[in-house]
Amino acid sequence: MALYTRCYYHKRHYQPMSDTCPNLPPPAPNYRRAAYLTSAAKLSQCPPDQGWEVAFAGRSNAGKSSAINSLTGNSKLAKTSRTPGRTQLINFFELSEQQRLVDLPGYGFAKVPLAVKREWTRQLENYLQKRQCLRGMILLMDVRHPLQPFDQQMLDWALSASMPVHILLTKADKLKKGPATSTLLKVRAQLEAHRELVSVQLFSALKHSGHDQLLTVLNAWLTDTSVLEEPTAT
Ligand code: GDP
Repeated sequence: MALYTRCYYHKRHYQPMSDTCPNLPPPAPNYRRAAYLTSAAKLSQCPPDQGWEVAFAGRSNAGKSSAINSLTGNSKLAKTSRTPGRTQLINFFELSEQQRLVDLPGYGFAKVPLAVKREWTRQLENYLQKRQCLRGMILLMDVRHPLQPFDQQMLDWALSASMPVHILLTKADKLKKGPATSTLLKVRAQLEAHRELVSVQLFSALKHSGHDQLLTVLNAWLTDTSVLEEPTAT
């Protein structure tokens, strides 16, 4: 499987943790240590833009909480993101001082006034396009309904920021092997033009399948030392 990391344009904005903390590569994270850090309604409320961050996005019901639960072995984390008042916020979970998982809100709040939705959309786009420590996005889609308008919007924002996206086609157990593989190939073909930034896999939280592939991508993004390199003169 090819692994893609964020383009050089974004690397030059990398901020070291502090003067006393040298630019050493971070260790592979222990996902079971994930702990709730904070929530933000806008970019200015996010934790300092330092270190390594990976965002999880998906329409509501795509299986995001189940995937985060199965990755971290902690059902309380996803519940934290669903606490009333936090469902429309960007929720941060700390893996280590320098590494974070970020749960982005889906579109699960049809009763919210349009103006609120617009503002939320603006803030989400802002976060995806401006957050320098964001190394990549895990985009979850139900394998039976891939590439819906919400997914396309998330892909467009990520790609316009040259950010790698790894797609999980979730609930793969709901389809037989043949149709699941055929959907995988179809989605890959549809995104062929972006193959340098986009990868796709099947995933099932229920059957615990696809974990190793997901971990390979997450570990690569969350320990990507190329962001530590000094920019070279052009
Ligand atoms: P979220 O809204 O994206 O956080 O979605 P959830 O994780 O809450 O999942 C939505 C529904 O899909 C729940 O009823 C889950 O039990 C179910 N679900 C999630 N992952 C899987 C899976 O891998 N297989 C199956 N069969 N159902 C799943």
